[in-house]
This record gives sequence, C-alpha cells and structure tokens, in this order.
Amino acid sequence: MIDSPPSLPSTRSPSARHAPRSPAGCDRLSALSGLVGDTPLLAIQAKLDRRRFTIYAKAEFYNLTGSIKDRMALGVIAAAYGRGALVAGQEIVEATSGNAGIALAAVGRALGHPVTIFMPDWMSAERRALLRSHGAEIRLVSAEEGGFLGSIARAEQHAAQVGGFLSQQFANPDNWRAHYAGTAPELLAQMEAVGATPDAFVAGVGTGGTVMGVARHFRDVGLAASVHPVEPAESPTLSTGHKVGRHRIQGVSDEFIPEIVKLDELSAVIGVCDGDAILMAQRLAVELGLGVGISSGANMVAALKIAMTLPGTPAVATVFADNSARYLSTDLAREERVRDCYVAPRVELVDLRVI
Ligand code: PMP
Repeated sequence: MIDSPPSLPSTRSPSARHAPRSPAGCDRLSALSGLVGDTPLLAIQAKLDRRRFTIYAKAEFYNLTGSIKDRMALGVIAAAYGRGALVAGQEIVEATSGNAGIALAAVGRALGHPVTIFMPDWMSAERRALLRSHGAEIRLVSAEEGGFLGSIARAEQHAAQVGGFLSQQFANPDNWRAHYAGTAPELLAQMEAVGATPDAFVAGVGTGGTVMGVARHFRDVGLAASVHPVEPAESPTLSTGHKVGRHRIQGVSDEFIPEIVKLDELSAVIGVCDGDAILMAQRLAVELGLGVGISSGANMVAALKIAMTLPGTPAVATVFADNSARYLSTDLAREERVRDCYVAPRVELVDLRVI
C-alpha cells in the first residue's frame, strides 16, 4: 500500500471529508458521515504537585457507535469504494479487539455488506453483544488458538475463502488518514478558537491510526508539538518490540507493533499502569460526569505525565476513545487498589469546559 499523506482537508464538512462514492447506498454513506467526527473538545483543568494544567481531550464517544473507531471504519470503507476495492454486497472481514468491529459492523451492515469479525475471546461481553446487535458474525479466537495474531491469520484465511474485503486496520493507510483528515485538524481548530496550541499530543496505540494521523498532520502544518504513543506499563510492546504480559487497557497494545506505527516519526513512548488508567477513568466519571473507557483514563494519565515534564503552563491534547458502558463487566466497575506510583490519586480535577 502507498503510505503517502492526503491533501489537507477542510474540517467543517464531514460529508465532503468522506466523499460518498458507495456503489449502492451513496446517500446512506453521506448520512452516516454526518454522525462521525466533529466531536466536542473537552478542556479539563487539573492540578498536580502544585502545578496547574489544561488537558484537551476530543470526546470521541460522541461518534455514531460511541468510539473513535467510527472514523477509521468510515474512512476505510469510503476510500475502498473510491478505489473499487469494495463493491456492493461484498463481505467485510476484520480482526479486532472490539471497537473497530462494532464500527465496521454498524457502517458495513447499514451499507448492505455482511460483516464477519474475528476477535480474542477475552474481550468484554458488552463488546460481543454490541457486535451481534449490529448484525455482525463473530468468530472468537482463544489464547491457545493464537489470540490476537491468530484472529488476524483467521480473518485473512476467511477473506480469501469467501472473496471478502479485508479492511486491514493495522496496515491500511486509510486508517491513519482518517485521523490526519479529521481528528487532527478538528483538534487544532477547536484549540485555536480558545487561543491555545498543543505543546504535546498523546494517544494509546491500538492500530496506531490515531497517533500516526495526528503526528503527520502536525508535521505537515509545521507544528512542533511532540506526539507520544501510550502503552500499558504491564505490556510494553512498543518499547520492547514484542508481546510481554497481559494488561487491562482494552483497545490498546494488541501483542505486536502494527505496520502503521513508525516509531521514528514519534516522540518517546509513555507507559501507564492499567490500575492508574482505571482509577483515572473512575475519577473522570465521578467528579466531572465523563463516563469514559479505560484507554481514556490511560490517555489522561499520560497527558499529565508529559505536562509535568514541560515548562510553564503547557497545553497537552489527547482523545477519549470511548465510554464506560463498554466496560461494566470489567475492573472499571470494581474497586481498584491505589499504588504510590500512580498519578490518578494525586491529581485534582478542577474544572471542565466544552469547546
Ligand atoms: N482506545 C480504544 C478503546 C480503542 O478501541 C482503540 C482502538 N483499538 C484505541 C484506543 C487505539 O486507537 P488506534 O487504533 O487508532 O491506535
């Protein structure tokens, strides 16, 4: 695949951004694109070790199916129609830890495609139920059968057998382009509206689509902000290059470094303990009304860690990728043990504004 950047987009017209060129459902694609992206920006005032920071977070749970992966699903499908790589009625096949599958199922089924999702069997029950509710066929893959890598191999085999379209979110440049054309310019325009510019951006890496799209957009508009990938401290795959240990931040660190991720284009990797991420997500829900998922808690912790390394009153930006409803059967809904090294118990969440 060609890894070239797209031309700079206009940010305020979602339907123009995802040019609707579906063979069937042209109007449907255009309608759905009006429900993806252009999410609110949250400005969270926080105090840590007597310093005051503003953390800016895109509220990605406002997207069609409630997660940032709607951007990827719509971008990949629209681009595949444009290239003729996906045609009317063709089956869509993907390996995913959940949110991408839910997004592909919702968009794919609404556009008239059968959708088959291969996923590890340890992902939350809510994610499986959501996939089914959108009409996807689910194939669960156990750790013994290869876990995440096994899911990818099986998805490839299945697509070859049925002549399906593999969205290949871990390798497909249309994934990061959705963030290059949507997430990043939206963020910059919203920050500019309140006179702010990001000094740094952080995001947990699943496919790396978010972090790479934002990094490349910042580079192409000449913004010097550092862009940091975030990973679970318990499973530092990006830092070590291979799978190490299990963690509880669903949606990130899926056992390998995705093809999309180019670490030499990014700043230092930030490790966040999964317990710290859980405690932070719980505090955002209880104190600010922001019922976010575990990776959002991780991103908030990582944003504060980076802010602490920068002088003055830095502006650090991130994304809140999904909401807490997807994790009610997980440790997010249980009491979490506090450890001395955590950021979440020490931060004061002072105020929230919506941009
Ligand atoms: N957080 C959650 C909850 C996710 O589902 C994902 C995507 N797997 C991410 C973060 C990471 O996003 P990306 O794939 O763009 O790296």
